[in-house]
Amino acid sequence: MSYDPNCIFCKIVAGQIPCAKVYENHKYLAFLDISPVNPGHTLVIPKEHYENLLNTPDSVLDGMLNDAKKIAKAVLKAVGADSFNLGINVGKTSGQVVPHLHIHIMPRFANDGHHLFRQGSYKEGEMENIANKIRNNIE
Ligand code: AMP
Ligand code: ZN
Repeated sequence: MSYDPNCIFCKIVAGQIPCAKVYENHKYLAFLDISPVNPGHTLVIPKEHYENLLNTPDSVLDGMLNDAKKIAKAVLKAVGADSFNLGINVGKTSGQVVPHLHIHIMPRFANDGHHLFRQGSYKEGEMENIANKIRNNIE
């Protein structure tokens, strides 16, 4: 069992810090985010400590999205929303603050004031160049 005594989410899993738990099974725990984007904002975490998506073993991830889907349905019903954003921040630059993998389930409401990323465009040839590089780096 991967555990980090300095990790706030590991402390939640261990029951050392309280949380508003909404779901638990042998692999995952889900609880309300303490600073919600909207009411019902829920975090789904593996009970084992892994810093982010990239260093989490596939066996730990296996089933996580299925459970997030199940929990998201309940979140929507509970808060009367029909939309949500699912998010995983990976790395500090992305906004990841807690280095223990978590999926954000963020219910959305009309005119809630939140906006998605600003989108841009590619220069001539840039799109195919980047797509090529990505294809060449798939392991
Ligand atoms: P991230 O920026 O993706 O690392 O998200 C971490 C999230 O954890 C933030 O949205 C915080 O509000 C939330 N958070 C931090 N500490 C707690 C806590 N003790 N209980 C519930 N949520 C927390
Ligand atoms: Zn942890």
